[in-house]
Amino acid sequence: MAERFYAQGTVFIFDLDKTLYSEESGLLAYLDQRINDYLVNALGIRRESVDEVRKRWVEEYGTTLRGAQVNCGIDPLDYIAYTHDIEIRKFLSADEELLRILKALPGIKVVFSNSPRGHADGVIDALGLTGVFERIYTIEFCEYEGKPARRAYERVLADLGVPATHCVMIEDTARNLVIPHEMGMTTVLLSKDRLQRHDHVDYVVAELRELLEIGRWSAAS
Ligand SMILES: [Mg+2]
Repeated sequence: MAERFYAQGTVFIFDLDKTLYSEESGLLAYLDQRINDYLVNALGIRRESVDEVRKRWVEEYGTTLRGAQVNCGIDPLDYIAYTHDIEIRKFLSADEELLRILKALPGIKVVFSNSPRGHADGVIDALGLTGVFERIYTIEFCEYEGKPARRAYERVLADLGVPATHCVMIEDTARNLVIPHEMGMTTVLLSKDRLQRHDHVDYVVAELRELLEIGRWSAAS
């Protein structure tokens, strides 16, 4: 297992939500609404406090799910079943340009998401990207403690059997790139604000197609 992907060169690790599809799709806004409803209906949090509670939990625990587990002892499967009861194809359709870009990247591609597996599979299927990713790591794989917890990245790297220095992590959330940078991965932030700078971000791209223009990927193979 170890070294299996190593020989094939670079491993591109893609976040899923807001990385493989845009906010404009409306999918995340809908998902957000489902999460808010869960907090109100299942946990009894007042509607007017939901935004503040979620913000606090994300800051403290990394994700709303983790915060709800630690503070309210919820069953993650309950949370997922409620919040991800979504017809993804209403929001996303096949993205041939993205398929072309991913196929053109010289290396292994994987997904590493804090979303549940059903959601990740649904998104990948709706985007027409089935079969593109060698591995799809989701919140279940991380035992519900996802990014930015160090343990989550360690699990993924151990499963891939490659050194961090051969990995490129692509994310829309800057703080999820802090640990990858510390571990030695190349970090790419997807952001419309191309001028933003972070010590832990190697490249800022406004669109995924710019990945093809970063000419150093072959150096790791
Ligand atoms: Mg994201």
